[in-house]
Amino acid sequence: MPFRICESEQQCASVADDLRRAGGFAVPEFRAGVRHGRQRRDRGRLTATKIGQFWLWPCALLLILLGTWRAVQMRQYERRTSVLTPAEAVIWERRYKWGAVLYAAALGLWCTVALLGTDDLVAHLLCTTVTIGYIAASVGRNYGRPRIAQLQLLFACGPMAVAMILRGDPYYVGLALLQVLFFIGLKHINIALEQTYVKAMFAHEREAALANQFDAALNNMPYGLCMFTPEGRLAVINSRFGQMMKLREARLRSGTTIHEIISACVAAGSVQDVNAESVIREIERRQDAEITTLDTCDGNERALQWTFQPMAGGGTVVLVEDVTEQRNAEARIIHLARFDALTGLPNRQTFRDEIDRELTSESGQVSALLFIDLDQFKQVNDTLGHPCGDRLLCEVADRLRGLLGENDFVARFGGDEFVVFQRNIASREDSAELARRIVERLSERYQINRHLVEIGASIGIAVTEPGVDADHLLKNADMALYQSKTDGRGQFCFFQHEMAEAIERRRTLEIDLRQALVNEEFELFFQPLVNLKSGRISTCEALLRWRHPVRGLVSPADVIPVAEEMGLIVDLGRWILREACIECAKWPKQVRVAVNLSPLQFHQAAVLDDIRFALQVSGLEPNRLEVEITESSLMRNTEWTRRALGELQEEGIRIALDDFGTGYSSLSYLHSFPLDKVKIDRSFLEGIREDKPLMLLRGVARLSADLGMSVVVEGIETNEQLEIVAADGTVTEAQGYLFSRPVAAGQIRQLLAASHGQRAAPDASGRAVRSAGQH
Ligand code: C2E
Ligand code: MG
Ligand code: MG
Repeated sequence: MPFRICESEQQCASVADDLRRAGGFAVPEFRAGVRHGRQRRDRGRLTATKIGQFWLWPCALLLILLGTWRAVQMRQYERRTSVLTPAEAVIWERRYKWGAVLYAAALGLWCTVALLGTDDLVAHLLCTTVTIGYIAASVGRNYGRPRIAQLQLLFACGPMAVAMILRGDPYYVGLALLQVLFFIGLKHINIALEQTYVKAMFAHEREAALANQFDAALNNMPYGLCMFTPEGRLAVINSRFGQMMKLREARLRSGTTIHEIISACVAAGSVQDVNAESVIREIERRQDAEITTLDTCDGNERALQWTFQPMAGGGTVVLVEDVTEQRNAEARIIHLARFDALTGLPNRQTFRDEIDRELTSESGQVSALLFIDLDQFKQVNDTLGHPCGDRLLCEVADRLRGLLGENDFVARFGGDEFVVFQRNIASREDSAELARRIVERLSERYQINRHLVEIGASIGIAVTEPGVDADHLLKNADMALYQSKTDGRGQFCFFQHEMAEAIERRRTLEIDLRQALVNEEFELFFQPLVNLKSGRISTCEALLRWRHPVRGLVSPADVIPVAEEMGLIVDLGRWILREACIECAKWPKQVRVAVNLSPLQFHQAAVLDDIRFALQVSGLEPNRLEVEITESSLMRNTEWTRRALGELQEEGIRIALDDFGTGYSSLSYLHSFPLDKVKIDRSFLEGIREDKPLMLLRGVARLSADLGMSVVVEGIETNEQLEIVAADGTVTEAQGYLFSRPVAAGQIRQLLAASHGQRAAPDASGRAVRSAGQH
């Protein structure tokens, strides 16, 4: 009856695979066992039958028993239903090893008995060829476990070779020696086979691991990927490509053609027809290329970037990336860089580029640039808050858009500055007309979050000229805007070249002014204030003069505002205070010095220390210093102002309110701040002969006097003015050219000597001083 371990070769291979997975290496033996199972049992029986030697029968029995036992083992192995665990594999291997070694030992015994127990050549031939054949096959089978093969070699061939040598026949001895060499050769073959097997197995494992990694990478990459063979058929595709293109699994079989794949994408609605053609063209071209397609997918616009790369052996790799987000972000960044985020209008850069292009196009047309600045916008922001300010700016932008012609262009330059470029004007009147409409429209009332808001607009206009670039044009319009604001808000003004000259003058003035303090070009002049009762100089006002090397004496009206803007006023003011106090210390004790403090100077933190320091270095008594401040100084930071003035007053320093009547002239200032003196501005003297101005002057003077303040009238130039002012006795002091113009320190000392040295008659007209000041 035939005996089979495995039902089929496939079954056997699976058994072998199980063993290999479990870590065993004796697999080939099992395969071979399948083929040789039946033959094993018959070997010993044949020789015993042939020779009739008694000891051969036990050998035959042993071979049959061992063969049967091994066959049963193999059958059990084959019938396993579960995958081998490493521990089970070790047990099975051990069983196999014992079976193999015992069977080889039985063959060796059989050869020994046959070779030594009989001279029958057929028996000798039979046992040696069978044993050698078995061993040769075993070496091939057991390449995975060379130790088993070598043990078989030792136990089967060892006794056979010894028995041949023991027979003493030289042929048998020679044959035995040849066999030894043969066995050594078999051993080497067995080892070489094992090494080859091990290498192949590792290579296979590596390949499998690599394939797994490649699969994982392919399916987890953010790009869709597919590879096409040189024949244009799909070789590899990843799942991302399928997801991106909304393709069903069935469509992703390898072997599908390019046209089928891309048509499936079109059918799925993920690629448009026109884009499909370009994609197919690029794949078939087999060259490095990159295209971006824009499709509508699920109602949204989608941008796909396709990269095509030729492969070494022909064919193309296609990578697809969804760049929609990236493109949108780029578009947003570009928009942000070129447009104002609040109003959506082009920004300064875009506007500049646009008009630069316009100006270099040499169309020969004249255009105008209107620089618009909103009046009172800051107040809206400060009082109603920034969200309302923002809404207002958007409204302004909308109104401007509505006013422009199709060729015109408007931009926001930041803050409350807007710029309009009016293309191809026939004359300046076109721009004037547009400017008028803009001022009018922007001045109309706005409704912002239930608030009614009113603002105005000032406009500077510059008309294009040959050779004028964008920056120049903007600068000119800006200068015109400055002029328009100076002239009074809510107006427009065209740029004139004199403006540039004025600005240039101002620039040089700033440079010179910085040097002036270092070069000690400043000087103090003094103008007397005459007490109308005593007719003597009671106070001298320190007035700044700049002795410019080229321009001569420069008026403080030109210097102070510029020094304020440059921040130079702090250092300059400190110097004036010190110089004035030092000079006053040289005068008669009853004469005070009055020093003007500009609003900016007065509101800087260290002003009180500066005043104290000036008194300290000059040694002047505090009650001989009078500081003159203006109404605008009182308007700012009122709490601090009141406290600071109070402190000065407590220290004995007198406070005078200068130029009263030029600002808001609020009478409430007179009693809400600690003041010692009010200086009524010379503008009150205009029309003094008429009733109303005179009544006004007298009213203010009386009110101030009633509040306990001395009253000074500035700018008295004629006797008539003096007589009118002095008539009712409320005005305590007078200042003006009638007595003396502001004069240098040396001259004021002479005046003081004249006034205080020789006692003048106490008539109300102050004639004594007048005569001294006019020499
Ligand atoms: P202010 O303080 O009101 O000074 C009086 C100005 O009126 C002086 O002009 C003076 O020359 C002028 N004045 C006096 N009497 C007459 C007159 O009868 N008729 C006319 N038409 N003008 C007369 P000044 O020196 O040009 O100073 C102008 C302004 O500059 C000053 O007005 C003051 O506000 C400011 N200023 C002058 N010196 C200083 C200073 O040292 N510091 C500060 N912060 N401001 C100063
Ligand atoms: Mg003054
Ligand atoms: Mg004044």
